[in-house]
Amino acid sequence: MTDSALILAGHGSHISPNTAGVVWSYVDRLRALGAAGEVTACFWKEPPALNQVLDTVKATQIFVVPVFTAQGYFTASVIPSEMALPRPVTRRDGKTITLARPLGEHPAMTRVVRNIVRVHIDEHNLDRADTAVAIIGHGTRRNPNSRATTRYQAKVLRDMNWVGEVVDVYLDDEPEIQSIYRTTSAGNIIALPYFLAPGSHVSIDVPRALGLSDRAAPQTVAGRKIFYTQSLSGDESICSAIHELALEAGLPVCRDSDSRSWRGFPKAGRHSLVKALKERTNQKKPLQFGQVMVTEKRVWHCDNDACSTPMSSAAQLRARLREDPFRPLLTSADLPAGWHVDLDRPAQAHAVLETIYPGLVADWAAKHQGNFLAEPLKVTSERQIGMFKGIHNLAAELIERTVAKVCGACVRQPTWWQGEPKSDLPCKAACNYWLSNAAKLGESAL
Ligand code: SF4
Repeated sequence: MTDSALILAGHGSHISPNTAGVVWSYVDRLRALGAAGEVTACFWKEPPALNQVLDTVKATQIFVVPVFTAQGYFTASVIPSEMALPRPVTRRDGKTITLARPLGEHPAMTRVVRNIVRVHIDEHNLDRADTAVAIIGHGTRRNPNSRATTRYQAKVLRDMNWVGEVVDVYLDDEPEIQSIYRTTSAGNIIALPYFLAPGSHVSIDVPRALGLSDRAAPQTVAGRKIFYTQSLSGDESICSAIHELALEAGLPVCRDSDSRSWRGFPKAGRHSLVKALKERTNQKKPLQFGQVMVTEKRVWHCDNDACSTPMSSAAQLRARLREDPFRPLLTSADLPAGWHVDLDRPAQAHAVLETIYPGLVADWAAKHQGNFLAEPLKVTSERQIGMFKGIHNLAAELIERTVAKVCGACVRQPTWWQGEPKSDLPCKAACNYWLSNAAKLGESAL
């Protein structure tokens, strides 16, 4: 069914490309599978933002799957608030938006945990009776329910009587990670980070809390041998679990499988873009979006020299432009050059631009159609339920300074602060990157 959109809602990061990268890899696979007419992702920390992604899809039946390992603060509070989804099924503006259960509640997660533990026991020939498993969740003191799924996984493993001891511990809640050295006594500890992606928590924060200097090999800490495992993302069944949660929420079964690149992208603004490209072909002039040039036949960086590498898929292009160095703000004006994408048809330009600058074409088209509406900082600020709440009360001079510093290095115009959209690439609301910078500046000014 092409009138359906599937949106994967994740956390994202300002430090590691892997947190959102894992979610994008599921998006690529679900697009190839033809899981819905439009498939995309949105994030708390990276674009497209939770509060803007709905503008990028045209389907009237929209399904949002939270790609989080726990039903807690983000799935129960942040996502409903940012996406304006007060109920599991929300109807507005002729669209029905269904919020599915989070990934952490899918039974596959238990299988994934069991497999990781089994592999470590077998690989290292561990004595099960002398082995403890520590399942390490994020947790948050803002919502005690955030511990529920981690605790559940620990209980399932404990009930199986596979190993001598099983505990659940948390990065940002009680019991803390270091407590495993007091509460368990086995000689071996399998420490399993119950996180979806190998982001900074998995690669830096958890190993540090465990006292590990090197994740690669088993290490001895406090007289115990620690086997630090991978995160959950490596398991093949996760993508299927996301799809199953969407189907369970009512996503129609779609048999439009198509492994060709640039299919299944969000469609808002596509028609306007194709029309504008045709006009530009007649004028023999490319269109420019930020640092990207576009014609009906090709997309390329405006500063390319003669040597440019062809890109053939969203995954390849994303890796080139986003991961090395990591650019958490995809619209920052430091887009790496030296690449191009040749198009089979003009509509592909939309998918390529959506990969480079998610959500930008939808806002560009809305501005051209006279429908673009910016969200004042006060509204963004009052919607917040965490650390950014009340951020509009910062001194105007601090806000101006953050706009100049952060937005000055971005290809979008901060219309939400400056009023009239003068640029062709208006920005609807202060992004998480801006909010984080403003909050830091506000703290240092105290
Ligand atoms: S204009 Fe400013 S707020 Fe908007 S995306 Fe760019 S940096 Fe973020």
